[in-house]
Amino acid sequence: MNSDTPLPAHTWPTLEPGWVWLCGAGPGDPGLLTLHAVNALRQADVVIYDALVQESILTWAPQAAHIYAGKRGGKPSAKQRDISLKLVDLAKEGKRVLRLKGGDPFVFGRGGEEAQTLVQHGIPIRIIPGISAGIGGLAYAGIPVTHRDVNQSVTFVTGHDQSGSTPSALDWTSISRGSQVIVIYMGMKHIAQIARHLIEAGRSLQDPVAVVTTATTDDQQVLETTLGTVVGDIAKAKLAPPAIICVGQSVLMRQVLDWQSMAAGVAPRNLDPLGRGRPADTA
Ligand code: SAH
Repeated sequence: MNSDTPLPAHTWPTLEPGWVWLCGAGPGDPGLLTLHAVNALRQADVVIYDALVQESILTWAPQAAHIYAGKRGGKPSAKQRDISLKLVDLAKEGKRVLRLKGGDPFVFGRGGEEAQTLVQHGIPIRIIPGISAGIGGLAYAGIPVTHRDVNQSVTFVTGHDQSGSTPSALDWTSISRGSQVIVIYMGMKHIAQIARHLIEAGRSLQDPVAVVTTATTDDQQVLETTLGTVVGDIAKAKLAPPAIICVGQSVLMRQVLDWQSMAAGVAPRNLDPLGRGRPADTA
């Protein structure tokens, strides 16, 4: 996008000196940024961005300094404090600060902690939501995160806690029984443990699973497997994070909704993967 192109008519907020805007950049594809994010990129003096933010997005803020604040999942959170305090310092210097985070800043992104620190230091903030990988990333793989024939609820879980191990606070039995579809962030490191927890809690070995890596980017890979075979299949396919792992029948919908393959000329594999035997939009 040319930065001379005006945004559509709207009263766009001004990023004032001394403010910090915490903004989601979406899961990868720059087209999934919001217009508020573009408006922010055009005004910032400084953009502080995470590892999961596509660097090409930074070219939309050519006037700004770009500061990398990457942290990789599971590492101790010591640096988190430094990042928050850096934001405070920049704001106190009178900079227009854009804190750009992958996906949505308030979904497993520590945006809440950063925002709280800023408020505690008297820094004015604005929050700009983004498309979270657990929703948008799955949509790019052709998996609807809810589907009327499958689920009336969905649970988003993190595969890590602050210590870097499987979150002990998670009640896997309740999640397994209560949520037809489970979407796991940061789940690759502990997938063996997570799959075991779910199976022990009663989920079937045949439960469909999708693993979507670097979703929405040109490098996106999608593995379709089952709870019983996911660990071996991830190793066989040599998949690496970042990945969203989806457990549940909605994964089957990819057989009819893999729109990226269809756009490339591949016929849908199965027009009725849930075996409903009726048109999709009848009650
Ligand atoms: N705030 C982010 C999540 C940050 S936690 C959001 O709302 O999406 C980091 C985890 O997000 C990764 O370990 C991975 O599980 C997931 N993730 C983020 N971007 C992703 C992508 N493009 N493809 C697959 N998973 C992604």
